Amino acid sequence: MSPRVSSLNTIFFNCSLEKDWKGPFYFIQGADPQFGLMKAWKVGDHDNSGDEWQEEIKLTEQAVQAINKLTLKPKFFVLCGDLIHAMPGSPLCEEQIFDLKHVLEDIDPKIPLVFVSGNHDIGNSPTPESIAEYCKNWGDDYFSFWVGGVLFLVLNSQFFQDASNCLELKEAHDLWLDNQLAAAEQLKIKNVIVFQHIPAFLQSAEEENDYFNLEKSKRLDLLQKFEKGGVKAIFSGHYHRNAGGKFNDLDMVVTSAIGCQLGEDKHGVRVVVVTEDKIHHKYISLDELSDLTVKEMISSYLEVNDESPCLFY
Ligand SMILES: [Zn+2]
Repeated sequence: MSPRVSSLNTIFFNCSLEKDWKGPFYFIQGADPQFGLMKAWKVGDHDNSGDEWQEEIKLTEQAVQAINKLTLKPKFFVLCGDLIHAMPGSPLCEEQIFDLKHVLEDIDPKIPLVFVSGNHDIGNSPTPESIAEYCKNWGDDYFSFWVGGVLFLVLNSQFFQDASNCLELKEAHDLWLDNQLAAAEQLKIKNVIVFQHIPAFLQSAEEENDYFNLEKSKRLDLLQKFEKGGVKAIFSGHYHRNAGGKFNDLDMVVTSAIGCQLGEDKHGVRVVVVTEDKIHHKYISLDELSDLTVKEMISSYLEVNDESPCLFY
């Protein structure tokens, strides 16, 4: 399926050029700009407030400007959901989307944007209408793409939480996912990476159910499927704190927010370096995100003889 993407800078990748491994590369993952949550959190009314989002605008601008200044260009910038705080149909939705798009329009045209849907973007119990509205604004709610020999799967994790109002769409999503994973297994694709808003788990695959993870039986079922299909890492948000753990060799990575922090982390993004055998990643605060920190981080993961035309183009 070739993804239908938003009118923002989502140049998509040429499949025939991107299917082969050409050397290490990197991308940047952000999560939860969630315009409006900082105010809502401050006043303690998470559901009905969030009528100001100047702070989130500034933070997202800071992220965009810092990324634009990087001389080693990331292959893309993925935002793992909860783009805005207002739930679908709420009066603030349109304004928050407008403001976020305005900020993101400044991203360097050489850096494609990839969007992942969060519960605040399509609703806790999404409907065909709320999903269609999301797709209109941000592109498909699930799709796959190739970059530098790596297959990326963007999922709609709300289907795993509550699909009671969109059963047919969930079935289509799950069938698509099964087919993607079966093809990945058959083709023995070395690196498959998943993006989904809600983490499968926060620390351990055996942990109890929580607002911030997937229900245990669904989680284990999904993790086994991922493992069989060769998925090496899942990158998520939703938790507004950094966390993560391992399911056998599969890395579950939970990235804190660009916007509102619910723990002790600083506003930031994650820099992800993909080498032939490993996926390395590090959360970097927006204040520290610079050419120097990114170059230092990347070179610490590369072997002396690593040929990396993808990095140094
Ligand atoms: Zn969320």
